[in-house]
Amino acid sequence: MTTLGIPSWPHCGHGAPPGGAGCRGRSVEPYTACLAHLSDDDRSAYLAGLQPGAHLDHRGTLFTEELLSELLASLKDPSTDRPCLGDARFDEAKIGGSAWFEGAEIGVGASFRRGRFVGTAAVGPLVCTGTLDLSEAVFESAVTIEAATAVLHCRRTRWASTGALRLRHAAVDLSDAVLEYPVSMSAHSRPFALLSREMAEPGLTDPRVRALSLRGGDAAHPAMYAFEKTSTRRCGPLPARPPMREDFSFSQMSTAGQ
Ligand SMILES: [Zn+2]
Repeated sequence: MTTLGIPSWPHCGHGAPPGGAGCRGRSVEPYTACLAHLSDDDRSAYLAGLQPGAHLDHRGTLFTEELLSELLASLKDPSTDRPCLGDARFDEAKIGGSAWFEGAEIGVGASFRRGRFVGTAAVGPLVCTGTLDLSEAVFESAVTIEAATAVLHCRRTRWASTGALRLRHAAVDLSDAVLEYPVSMSAHSRPFALLSREMAEPGLTDPRVRALSLRGGDAAHPAMYAFEKTSTRRCGPLPARPPMREDFSFSQMSTAGQ
């Protein structure tokens, strides 16, 4: 992970040593502190003012599972009882807690660039109609990511433990990804469901999950790609020299690896 300098956004600065940046969390306007360091009253006032579909900017913020739960609860759409987000920016956030964004519906895109997931066992299932950006993020523990999304960016993403990507509709960019342990990827044949209710996938129409780029990937352990369709499951190892062409589908890849 690259050394982080002074953030480019208005930041909290909590606990700053002389000449240092302190807490890098994005200030929650109109306050100066980030969401993690707001007073209880100010945090409650901010959360009470959020509406389903709100745009969020919590870059650099230190999240516990409890803090995320509070945030998502304030974004619940009463018609679906699921958190509904607009454009969500969590770049450089440090993310604790075992589960993230379960059942979230993201109407624009979500960015976790350079985010650090500590102890996170599950991300999603979520639906994102735009781009889900996990570029340069670090997953420190075993994680399952379930996402129906138009585009998934995992450029220079690092898995420091095992991982599973279960995807729908997604065009996936894995350029320069670092896999220290096996990471599996599969196309999920049916919409994700929570409490026996399938999640709607507005605007997601491409039936395929496909890898746009695997160039430069650094895999200490071979990744396993799986393609699931109805009851058929096939999987195979990542080819030693992955095809470089665009729009390469996992179905082709798993066939190539048989
Ligand atoms: Zn802060």
